[in-house]
Amino acid sequence: MGFDCRSADFYVIRARAVILCCGAAGRLGLPASGYLMGTYENPTNAGDSYAMAYHAGAELANLECFQINPLIKDYNGPACAYVTGPFGGYTANGRGERFIECDYWSGQMMWEFYQEFQSGNGPVFLKLDHLAEETIQTIETILHTNERPSRGRFHARRGNDYRTRMIEMHISEIGFCSGHSASGVWVDEHARTSVQGLYAAGDMAAVPHNYMLGAFTYGWLAGEDAAGHVAGRAPTLDASQVEQERERMLAPLSCERGLPPAQVEYKLRRFVNDYLQPLKVTRRMEIGLQRFAEIREDVERLGAANPHELMRAAEVAAILDCAEMAARLAVSHGEPLGALPPSCRFSRAQR
Ligand SMILES: Cc1cc2nc3c(=O)[nH]c(=O)nc-3n(C[C@H](O)[C@H](O)[C@H](O)COP(=O)(O)OP(=O)(O)OC[C@H]3O[C@@H](n4cnc5c(N)ncnc54)[C@H](O)[C@@H]3O)c2cc1C
Repeated sequence: MGFDCRSADFYVIRARAVILCCGAAGRLGLPASGYLMGTYENPTNAGDSYAMAYHAGAELANLECFQINPLIKDYNGPACAYVTGPFGGYTANGRGERFIECDYWSGQMMWEFYQEFQSGNGPVFLKLDHLAEETIQTIETILHTNERPSRGRFHARRGNDYRTRMIEMHISEIGFCSGHSASGVWVDEHARTSVQGLYAAGDMAAVPHNYMLGAFTYGWLAGEDAAGHVAGRAPTLDASQVEQERERMLAPLSCERGLPPAQVEYKLRRFVNDYLQPLKVTRRMEIGLQRFAEIREDVERLGAANPHELMRAAEVAAILDCAEMAARLAVSHGEPLGALPPSCRFSRAQR
């Protein structure tokens, strides 16, 4: 079941198998810029499929492993020190000194980055100002065209020039992602989840560090196995369940004086930063759980003035589910999570 985010038309799709592939949970933490969509990950990936899989009864794995990355400060893109590495670029501290052994992403690298960033040697920078002109031009061609053109425009408006200045870096918000990390919906070697007929592939499937290559491969595996699974089966529909779900999904449209989704999302993601972000502390996680439970009441009172806001309201509910899963897992030290409250927006009945 779903709705059109331009018209709010409600759709019921008969499926004998479902492949979830809605990407990472990229809007879990709030970026330092405070801008809701200024995330490292594609911000259209709000973690919907993590929430859907959970409510369908599928197992998730490695949720204690958050995705977190070094970024350019105030810009929602990676600094790509690892791209500049082969050309002689590197991450440096405030004195211009190299302090990371290897710039490619790892828990060790992130820990070294964090320590230097917090210390008197911070902040941390991308250092290219020692490189030859033709080398810098090559790096610019890669990073300002291939990686993303907005990067060049961002630097131009800030007056940043790799030739004369180091570029200030920062640390991203936290998220769930298997592509760059490990957290996702548990799948076997055929991309099957623990629920029959439900598959997952890409950043949301727990295949650690699978990136694009893994997304393509597991998409292929899921498609192949799902085709075998659907043969000879007829999809069934429960009309009363469909009606219940339609009402629940579209409720914010008729909630007069409802809470604006963007405001609730901001509040929720600020709490994610306050309570879930490393360094992880059990007491913080416990308080976080209390705050998230209060936000469940806000979710019930969300309003939407148009179909776009309806989508945003649904996303807030998914982000909340992800936040709660992360906190619960941390305080339960890996024990099973138990059920999320029945008020959450993706009910088990959807299965
Ligand atoms: C900054 C950055 C740099 C990267 N660099 C590299 C690299 O150099 N090499 C590499 O191999 N990988 C790289 N990756 C990782 C790679 O991009 C991902 O692993 C890959 O895109 C995952 O594919 P996916 O299909 O799972 O997710 P995505 O490509 O994110 O696609 C998910 C899609 O689902 C849609 N969606 C989300 N929710 C819903 C919903 N509820 N309903 C309908 N649609 C929905 C989204 O709009 C999106 O189109 C990078 C990622 C980032 C963020």
